[in-house]
Amino acid sequence: MFSYRHAFHAGNHADVLKHAILVQVLDYFNRKDNPYWVIDTHAGAGLYALDGDWAGQSGEVTEGLDRLLGATQPPALIERYLHVIQDFNPDGVANLYPGSPCLALHAMRPDDRLRLFELHPTEGQVLEDTLRQQMRASRRQVAVAREDGFAGLKRLLPPPPRRGLILIDPSYENKQDYRHVLQALKDGLQRFAQGCFVIWYPLVQRVQAHEMVRALERLPVDWLNASLTIRKPSADGLGMHGSGMFVVNPPWTLEAELRAALPWLQATLGQDEQAKFSLTRPTQARPGKEAEQDESDFREPPPARHALPRQKRSPSRR
Ligand code: SAM
Repeated sequence: MFSYRHAFHAGNHADVLKHAILVQVLDYFNRKDNPYWVIDTHAGAGLYALDGDWAGQSGEVTEGLDRLLGATQPPALIERYLHVIQDFNPDGVANLYPGSPCLALHAMRPDDRLRLFELHPTEGQVLEDTLRQQMRASRRQVAVAREDGFAGLKRLLPPPPRRGLILIDPSYENKQDYRHVLQALKDGLQRFAQGCFVIWYPLVQRVQAHEMVRALERLPVDWLNASLTIRKPSADGLGMHGSGMFVVNPPWTLEAELRAALPWLQATLGQDEQAKFSLTRPTQARPGKEAEQDESDFREPPPARHALPRQKRSPSRR
């Protein structure tokens, strides 16, 4: 179980989809002054060196973020994501990749709170050091628990301000994760029905993966399901050919942004003729849902200052 290190995968196609959506949802939360909590049940190490040994070894970033760099006129969702990546790389070369904890902290205001779970002892230590030293996070605002995020989530719901984003992002190396995700969501919704639950999942040739997504889609809640296939499934049945994000109680702005971004992502990240995307939501409309959310403070994302250049990274250790 402790073999997974997200550094091998940082900035890959799955991170692009996951983090572009995460940034959009955080932006939406920031439209109102009321404070909110972000709970990340599987936090990872927080910040990754794309020119480091691990990311360099896997080369996965070349199938993800690297393909987006230098893009002219990307859709708003991607433009905003690239803008945030650029904030972590002020010298203009995309060598540092922010994971979900750093993306959340980057978006949060002083009264918002970040609660993180990371079970891997080394990743947990790196995460804690990164947040305190590089991100200068205070203990009041950010807490890291080195424990099981599925179990720990229960005691944090509902968060005191009754506004919250819960990211559930396991590696699924353990096939029990599919069952645990579904159970965590069902339990979480009982404690915090209005929460925005964001679940990442891999597109893999595994029956548990298909069953989990079908079960999620049967839940009697408002949801949006976005998936991106970048290549045909492998002949040996192994590996990931895409990924998806299942968002419960999505911001009303997310669907339109994804409708514009997914065809672009398919064209930009797709590797063969089987590249495709899907965007679905419950077939039965839930009247009044959009009206409950406040559209009046809709702000267009700021234009990109300049695109990060696609440059060769010189290998270095962090
Ligand atoms: N959310 C991160 C991001 O977007 O940057 C990536 C997380 S990575 C896919 C999954 C992480 O969950 C790994 O660092 C792994 O060590 C950790 N993990 C695995 N099982 C866990 C559990 N039951 N509770 C908390 N963390 C766990």
